[in-house]
Amino acid sequence: MIVVRNRFIPIGKRYGAMNLFGIMFVKPDVVLTDEVVNHERIHSRQMRELLYVLFYLLYVMEWIVWLIRLRGDAYRSYMNISFEREAYRHGGDMGYLSRRRRFAQWRGDGANF
Ligand SMILES: [Zn+2]
Repeated sequence: MIVVRNRFIPIGKRYGAMNLFGIMFVKPDVVLTDEVVNHERIHSRQMRELLYVLFYLLYVMEWIVWLIRLRGDAYRSYMNISFEREAYRHGGDMGYLSRRRRFAQWRGDGANF
């Protein structure tokens, strides 16, 4: 995975790394642990399954729906996006991607809040 260190992406102090079309943008002070890299690899798999464009479309739509449900709480809404739930739940499991089922983000066990 290509890693681009920069000060601007992702936007927001709470976010340290972001995967855009398979390229990982990372803030300068963020330590790239195996778990962070695995989290972003899970997103890459989700993107490929949904042909990238559909991934981003659904990602943003889900975030907006959660924003409405959670009355504007942006961070909790982000944590509840199905793609993030899967990536956070399994980021620490280095063997996860080798046994992951297709569209696993929608086979999860509910919201994180
Ligand atoms: Zn993520």
